[in-house]
Amino acid sequence: AATLGTDWALDWVARAAKTVSDHRIDLIELDRAIGDGDHGENMDRGFTAVTAKLATLRPDTVGDVLKTVATTLMSTVGGAAGPLYGTAFLRGAKAVDGELDAAGVASMLEAGLEGIRARGKAEAGEKTMVDAWGPAAEAARRAAEDGQGPAEALRAAADAAAAGSDATIPMVARKGRASYLGERSAGHRDPGAESSSLLLAAAAEAAES
Ligand code: ADP
Ligand code: MG
Ligand code: MG
Repeated sequence: AATLGTDWALDWVARAAKTVSDHRIDLIELDRAIGDGDHGENMDRGFTAVTAKLATLRPDTVGDVLKTVATTLMSTVGGAAGPLYGTAFLRGAKAVDGELDAAGVASMLEAGLEGIRARGKAEAGEKTMVDAWGPAAEAARRAAEDGQGPAEALRAAADAAAAGSDATIPMVARKGRASYLGERSAGHRDPGAESSSLLLAAAAEAAES
């Protein structure tokens, strides 16, 4: 499609809920290695609540869907990730205006990244979800500037987020619980970078379907 609308946003959320549920144990194990082992549980609880909430509402716009995701994640996920993802989706919601073309996808992801950075103060290379969102937003912007469509922009973003998640493995954590481990955090993938990669893969799949 030339633009992505409310149906895409709802399909994104449904696919996000499924992938978070399918990877619940993986995310728990990643967080057990360098955190407190709750990231998979937190994310699954959050997206289960989002699914329930969206079943009772009939959001009209992409922005309304993202705003519902934001407020529900903020009130149900807890920990570090709840406010971070909540802020990302809220800023993303504010950045979208109607349906999304590739530039709209890039603007949504850039706004999400800025929200995460504003909330968590992490820079690139500190082994957090910023290391997935940063490359993702950049890749989406490049795709838009190359004249590609929104599905291609999301695919580029998802692939960049997956590579960004891989790149967190050798990093030493400087933010969040994993930073308490210092050098011992190296050699493990960051759970939030991985869940971010899963969410963006879900967005790309919804756009491609
Ligand atoms: P908690 O650490 O409170 O148990 P979660 O386990 O749900 O919360 O989420 C941990 C993830 O949150 C980390 O893997 C990391 O990606 C992300 N995170 C933690 N602190 C920050 C921060 N300051 N900035 C960006 N992301 C962060
Ligand atoms: Mg945790
Ligand atoms: Mg916790």
